[in-house]
Amino acid sequence: MSEENYQLETLAIRAGSLRSQFNEHSEALFLTSSFMSDSAAQAAARFSGAEPGYIYSRFTNPTVAMFEERLAALEGAEQCVATASGMSAILACCMGVLKAGDHVVASRSLFGATVNLFVGILKKFGIETTFVSATDVSEWAAAVLPNTRLFFLETPSNPLTEVSDIAAIAAVAKQRGVLLAVDNCFCSPILQRPFDLGADIVIHSATKYLDGQGRVLGGAVLGSKKVMEGVFQFLRTAGPTLSAFNAWVILKGMETLKLRMEAHSANALQLAQWLEKQPNVARVFYPGLLSHPQHRLAMQQQKTGGGIVAFEVKGGKEAAWRVIDATQMISITANLGDTKSTITHPATTTHARITPEARAAAGITDSLLRIGVGLEAVSDIQADLARGL
Ligand SMILES: *Cc1c(COP(=O)(O)O)cnc(C)c1O
Repeated sequence: MSEENYQLETLAIRAGSLRSQFNEHSEALFLTSSFMSDSAAQAAARFSGAEPGYIYSRFTNPTVAMFEERLAALEGAEQCVATASGMSAILACCMGVLKAGDHVVASRSLFGATVNLFVGILKKFGIETTFVSATDVSEWAAAVLPNTRLFFLETPSNPLTEVSDIAAIAAVAKQRGVLLAVDNCFCSPILQRPFDLGADIVIHSATKYLDGQGRVLGGAVLGSKKVMEGVFQFLRTAGPTLSAFNAWVILKGMETLKLRMEAHSANALQLAQWLEKQPNVARVFYPGLLSHPQHRLAMQQQKTGGGIVAFEVKGGKEAAWRVIDATQMISITANLGDTKSTITHPATTTHARITPEARAAAGITDSLLRIGVGLEAVSDIQADLARGL
């Protein structure tokens, strides 16, 4: 199938499909640990890489391959390596491209566990990270050291929806010979394609919008064959592999990705506009709002504002918790990218394990709430929040 000219919504449904001898219409779940060879010679040829073919599901499985090819087509990447979760995708990326003594420059506005990976784990193995502003490109250039190997950012960021200028930061990275990795979890390739803007690596937590229904964990790293070689070798050797079952679930989720991203975004915009008018809301963070500091950049870089809205209530943690506890429909859970709306208090949940100083530097106050806006009627989401506001 020639996929080059297909639109994204077509690729999300058609790209990467493999068919077995039974010519099944829906993609099959290959729930098997290993694959058989016809002869000793064929087994040897497959292990050496001289002959293509499936060997063992730690690093080759047809259902996982379908997921990898579909996501690669959507992002416009040469290669995709699927992983067990978004965090293992970030780890696999770092293990694939970094070594002891290397330096990373990362956005200060990252998913909490990502910060912990850099400061709590990679540091133990001699990889140092400098954190800089998500939005001030000059800080990225100024932080580069002779041993800097990787720039890492997430845009829009979690939870404050800060928007980094991917093209501008990519230009700095190119000039300094540094690789740029972008965590594209919040937008998905439907809303934003970092490779088109100069990124070298794209990371996904497939747990979020790619599955889209809050069922399974998954992740992926994408890039050129050259960049991905080390990532694939890490996966093959260390095994943080996406299970075939999870790949099969996510493949089906991806088929409705475009419809869902558009619907999440439409609901989120309406909710954000409504929140801005509530007397007990101090501030709303949403890239689709005119009041967002990087609104213009966001609207150039992303198709829509996405599905995540954060806001500060008046009255600190007590008032924030009151909003959460007054909800009757919205789920109190840290997941996002689900058809069901979710609410979380980042300071005491997703970002509780980073230091208070790092939290303050990232702008995560005790009065901040984050909504993963779902696909319920926006009037019902508003009514549920109005109870505690
Ligand atoms: C959830 C998330 C991750 C981690 O993904 P898991 O699948 O939970 O491991 C990484 N980055 C961002 C932006 C996320 O929202």
